[in-house]
Amino acid sequence: MNRPQALNDIYDRLLARFGPQHWWPGETPFEVMVGAVLTQNTAWSNVEKAIANLKGQGLLDPARLFALPPPLLAEQIRPCGYFNLKAARLHNLLSLIAGRFDGDLDRFFATPLASLRQQLLEVKGIGPETADSILLYAAGKPIFVVDAYTHRLLSRHGLIAEEEADYHQIQALFMDALPADPALFNEYHALIVRVGKEYCKKTGPRCGECPLPAPS
Ligand code: SF4
Repeated sequence: MNRPQALNDIYDRLLARFGPQHWWPGETPFEVMVGAVLTQNTAWSNVEKAIANLKGQGLLDPARLFALPPPLLAEQIRPCGYFNLKAARLHNLLSLIAGRFDGDLDRFFATPLASLRQQLLEVKGIGPETADSILLYAAGKPIFVVDAYTHRLLSRHGLIAEEEADYHQIQALFMDALPADPALFNEYHALIVRVGKEYCKKTGPRCGECPLPAPS
């Protein structure tokens, strides 16, 4: 089986076992975008607490959040860890939206994929995984998100060499193998996270119970 066939087969098997994952949690694209920044290096349950704080204070709005000085923003998002760093990153992102898009989220999300991606990557503290999570899950653009779960699964199944860890190479594997469909990319990434959390753990993969055939 070649790599495109293998990636399609993995998707079919994961979907057959787990069903649709209904990602990303968030009531609005803005909430999804904020969550994508806050989730760096922390569990989602901590992000939920931080977002609940922002909602409770009526701050989950681009203009109000941008007007909040970063030290005060950091206090609100304290539960998600690295709160000073994340407050600065969030403020940088909000500065992009305020400065280049007059705070207009519709204009921001309507920007063509390549241009918006480039602008996101120019924001200090926003790397490829966060940028692509915003593009896919908040803006609905056809871009595949790669994370540690993706790398581990592909590596264990021999679809990438251990040293072939480059984010964009792995992303290209998926995007070359699959139709450019945001709903499909959304579902596939969510399924990889699911199998990564439940079976393909960092130490002690549970291949015997996993929906995928164990690597030979
Ligand atoms: S747990 Fe085993 S079979 Fe499942 S994805 Fe990981 S390596 Fe593959």
